[in-house]
Amino acid sequence: MKTQEQWIELKNNLNIENRAYINGEYSAALSGQTIPVVNPATDEIFTEIARCQSEDVDLAVSYARQAFQSGQWSESSPAHRKAVLKQFADLIDQHQEELALLETLDTGKPISHSFSTDIPGAASSLRWYAEAIDKVYGEVAPTEKDVHAFISHQPIGVVAAVVPWNFPLWLACWKLGPALSAGNSVILKPSEKSSLTAIFLGQLASQAGLPTGVFQVVTGYGHEAGDALAKHQDVDCIAFTGSTRIAGQLMVSSGESNLKRVFAEAGGKNANIVFDDCDDLDRAAAETAAGCFYNQGEVCVAATRLLVHESIKEQFIEKVIQASKAFTPKDPMDPSSSMGALIDQDHKSKVLEYISLGESDGANVRCGGDVDGQGAFVSPTILDNVDNKMRVAQEEIFGPVLCVISFKDEAQAIEIANDSKYGLGAALWSSNINRVHRVAKQLQAGSVWVNNYNEGDMTVPFGGFKMSGNGRDKSLHAIEKFTETKTTWIRLHS
Ligand code: NAD
Repeated sequence: MKTQEQWIELKNNLNIENRAYINGEYSAALSGQTIPVVNPATDEIFTEIARCQSEDVDLAVSYARQAFQSGQWSESSPAHRKAVLKQFADLIDQHQEELALLETLDTGKPISHSFSTDIPGAASSLRWYAEAIDKVYGEVAPTEKDVHAFISHQPIGVVAAVVPWNFPLWLACWKLGPALSAGNSVILKPSEKSSLTAIFLGQLASQAGLPTGVFQVVTGYGHEAGDALAKHQDVDCIAFTGSTRIAGQLMVSSGESNLKRVFAEAGGKNANIVFDDCDDLDRAAAETAAGCFYNQGEVCVAATRLLVHESIKEQFIEKVIQASKAFTPKDPMDPSSSMGALIDQDHKSKVLEYISLGESDGANVRCGGDVDGQGAFVSPTILDNVDNKMRVAQEEIFGPVLCVISFKDEAQAIEIANDSKYGLGAALWSSNINRVHRVAKQLQAGSVWVNNYNEGDMTVPFGGFKMSGNGRDKSLHAIEKFTETKTTWIRLHS
């Protein structure tokens, strides 16, 4: 990987494309308006992006529809789509450095993470679906002998992928992979806080051979461009990752427009339960710290609620405090940085307000808090003596704040873990195989990790119970969201 000086040199020579990508071309918003882009590590405005609104969305949707109707992509063979999408993934790999740099400048995350995790993760997500799509079969139903009923899956049409700022390109590719491979036309609406890598994808899509209009990028605010997509009569599906509040709004917009399918990957307030029979507390502490503080804690499945048995609580917190030192905030352009800046100053203020709220509700700060100076930096913060009823335990803080809650026995641990409107992820640490199965089965979460935190792979579905969303990203299950299931009945006459 490059040195810090080399990254800065690349930044100084970078020509940043900042316009929307509509109908195969980069263009400014029709209104000419823009949104400033701030580097959260320095608080400097370094570019601006197009502020698209409903008139830009109308254009993009009409081009997406035309492309879909033409059949050039939607009716092309899976083998063809596979070849093009593999090329798309290869181009992301070829531009790994520029993309990683843009991601870090936009979000404040460490350059080593952008370069080694986010961008390769994005490419491999596309490649996985490219490889999969010519291996997906339909079905024949076991009907009576004189009828033949077969079940096929057809692309749904125009898909809007609306994504957040915490893993901008990677999460976008979790949607693009299954949606494009299934034959849809996709309009990507990145967060207004992190649009640069999405914009960069436009030129790569065209170089890879995606027909014009099949992939477009509409930048802008959620309440403008995002809302216009959600209410559009000719968008067939919204694939959303973001907050639970906006997920709910999208469902209302769908109901009030054309009943477009809404699939939401939303928030989380995940319980990480450490039992007194855990046989490797050092490992559990290291993964607890990484689970909560990786990506500045801006992770939907962050291990934000530590439920620890009262008999080992003090010993375990000390270990987590030690482990959290691996996440000291530092300039994200420094390749040795493992923790960067939060997304912006507003978000930093929100995180600090939650820390104060926790204290005023009776929790104690064991370590962490504000970092003075430029940039939206907050240190890994541990709040001890949290009660699960407190707002800090119920609401998503989406920053580096760990809430420690003690429990007396297994039943109480399960009750506290499930006492949340969210149900995204949960973990438990125990060496008792009976307890492992008993507890894992009762946890209300889309992913349950046993003796690890946050294992993940493209082969497994990812998503939540309850208000953490519906549908699943990743794995072959994600393709179901982007297809309609059709049954064709044929009566056989003699
Ligand atoms: P957000 O809900 O504010 O925004 C997400 C996206 O929706 C952005 O592109 C935004 O512009 C757009 N949007 C906002 N208002 C809209 C509206 N009225 N209509 C249409 N679109 C609108 O979320 P965020 O702050 O960008 O991201 C953080 C949230 O994302 C957290 O809650 C986090 O848990 C969640 N998240 C979930 C997952 C998951 O897989 N479950 C993954 C990452 C992040």
